[in-house]
Amino acid sequence: MDFKISFSGVGVKYTQEEKEAVITAMENSETLTQGKYQNAFENAFSQYVNKKHCFATSCAATALELAAILLQLKSGDEVVCPAHTYNASAYPFAKHGAKLIWADINPESWLVDVVELSKVVTEKTKAIVVVHLYGAPANMPEIVDFAKQRGILVIEDCAQAIGASFDKMPVGSFGDLSIFSFHSHKNISTLGEGGMICTDSDEFAKIIPGLRHNGHASYTNRDPRYYWKPAMSNVDVDINGVWPNNFCIGEVQCALGFAMIPRITEINAARRARHQEFARRVKGVPQLTLQKIHNDGLSSHHLLPLKFIGKKVNRDFIIEKLAYEYKIQAIVQYYPLNRYPLFIKNGFGNAKIPNTDNFFDNMISLPFHHWLDELDFNYMVNSLIECIDRYDN
Ligand SMILES: *Cc1c(COP(=O)(O)O)cnc(C)c1O
Repeated sequence: MDFKISFSGVGVKYTQEEKEAVITAMENSETLTQGKYQNAFENAFSQYVNKKHCFATSCAATALELAAILLQLKSGDEVVCPAHTYNASAYPFAKHGAKLIWADINPESWLVDVVELSKVVTEKTKAIVVVHLYGAPANMPEIVDFAKQRGILVIEDCAQAIGASFDKMPVGSFGDLSIFSFHSHKNISTLGEGGMICTDSDEFAKIIPGLRHNGHASYTNRDPRYYWKPAMSNVDVDINGVWPNNFCIGEVQCALGFAMIPRITEINAARRARHQEFARRVKGVPQLTLQKIHNDGLSSHHLLPLKFIGKKVNRDFIIEKLAYEYKIQAIVQYYPLNRYPLFIKNGFGNAKIPNTDNFFDNMISLPFHHWLDELDFNYMVNSLIECIDRYDN
């Protein structure tokens, strides 16, 4: 279809400096993977999210897979996850042996909270996956307290929420393990794919590099006087029942990630200003509700999700009109994971999640890439208001 405003595959455009960082890395790398640019990116990220150890990965899904491996799940161990999220928040845990338990979302924040978590947590719960969906921060101080009391690990899926915070603390700083994505759609991207896993645990940090890179410890851990011993590509990570992977990211991507960190605040501020402008303009449209951001929270505004409760027409009607009459590509995010055959066939089809079901039936996500220009943004807001006024009043 020919859209005037489509859901862009590119979340943010690169600056000249960022492009130059890529060229410089291409020209100056002593190695194209696992080198100084990765170290610089990880160290800067560690400062940025206030986490002791950060490890760059090929994407957030592999970072989540590392988190799942680190849990060393035993038969019967449960991992609680919202069904209202992107697939990669959940499947890595199922893949590594978790019994997935679906948590419902709060009807206003559209995120998990302690009220919903307490309904599904049992003595078998090993970990909770908290997703800061659409960029809005979940109430982490409450969730961490709740989990600590019960000896449950907290995994933060910050894929959409880089730069978001709660109580002025960055998302990703709260969990036992936190992951980030630099996929093409996200607020910053390392050339299409990329991720990070972060932790304060020295124990986890010791084994993550080896699990990420075919079992090898960093080369620098060896005695430099006998650099050739015991062998090149030595296998140093050897946990019973745990096999390594290659989840590495290249140097050029890391150079770009490093160069983009200083721009996160500015990118998010622009997204926030636009979100506030949108909120102001649709204030008089009772059919629309925006995601409720906690008073102590700051969102990265990765997306522009809405809840539409029509007087006469439903969500699908509005999306259809926006698409065919106004040439605006609104979409639905996300299909509850428990309804997918993938999860049903693997035994995770059951869920009591009425808020998720209700939200799914009524949600609309509008194009919200950082480079959406002012004219198009205005056209989109005016069209939405006009469309609702025309068909639903
Ligand atoms: C994008 C995304 C992921 C996966 O990120 P990739 O880097 O594409 O693997 C995981 N969780 C959420 C919530 C996401 O939005």
